Amino acid sequence: MPQGRDTRPTVLVVVALMAETRGVLTRLGVDPADDGAVLHPHLTARTWSVDTTDGVVHVVWNGDDTRFEVDAIGTQAAVATTFAAIDVHRPDLVLSCGTCGGFASRGGSIGATYLATEVRRHDRRVDVPRMHEMMLADEGVLDGSVVAAELGLGLGPVSTSDSLDAPPLDLERMDAVGAVAKEMEAAAVAWVCRHAGVAFQAVKVVTDLVDDPEPTPDQFLRNLAAAGERLGEIVPEVVAAFQRHGVA
Ligand code: SAH
Repeated sequence: MPQGRDTRPTVLVVVALMAETRGVLTRLGVDPADDGAVLHPHLTARTWSVDTTDGVVHVVWNGDDTRFEVDAIGTQAAVATTFAAIDVHRPDLVLSCGTCGGFASRGGSIGATYLATEVRRHDRRVDVPRMHEMMLADEGVLDGSVVAAELGLGLGPVSTSDSLDAPPLDLERMDAVGAVAKEMEAAAVAWVCRHAGVAFQAVKVVTDLVDDPEPTPDQFLRNLAAAGERLGEIVPEVVAAFQRHGVA
């Protein structure tokens, strides 16, 4: 470690479900009784900060929706949380971490873990020139190929919508880009990162297979606890790997 200013990148981990957050906090050594700090007075999001040997990690969870008392999933909470968390924590890298649907047709399996090569949208339908392109625009990501190879992770396009189901047009769009992960936050988090000029990546663990006949909610609920444990193992390793390699 050179003396003087700490140049190790600060990483912000953004998560939607508490079931996805708990294992990460445990692995980072956070006391289970620690409910974190309020991120912003207008939001339900909670945040925890840990100084590890590889650098500072901030974790932010969207919190529970105040009306329905379930985790605030989806793109609108993801945008607000990420915007506030970047303002508060000034990270060098943001990771959108959580569960996803995978695709058996593209080699996916339950528990498989991916970093992103790009982030896409598959549900936005606006048939007006240029607005169509804007609504479906891809978001770039920090190159994750070295970290993926080092940790034995998959790599591929991650595709976001605000729905757990996948009607035919959404499926066509995901097939057209060869998506390996379907989820509900990454593109929203990446959009904020692009505007803020902060590097972005995603870490997604498969809880369900989009192209399996069993209903997605049943697969998801059966595999959520194991995926939460997997996230707890792998997210701190991904954070540390990017901190060692740098994020430039
Ligand atoms: N009943 C669940 C709801 C989870 S909704 C609960 O415990 O609250 C799905 C969440 O998991 C989203 O945050 C999304 O990012 C992720 N996810 C997992 N599999 C998905 C899939 N097949 N499609 C979309 N999102 C998925």
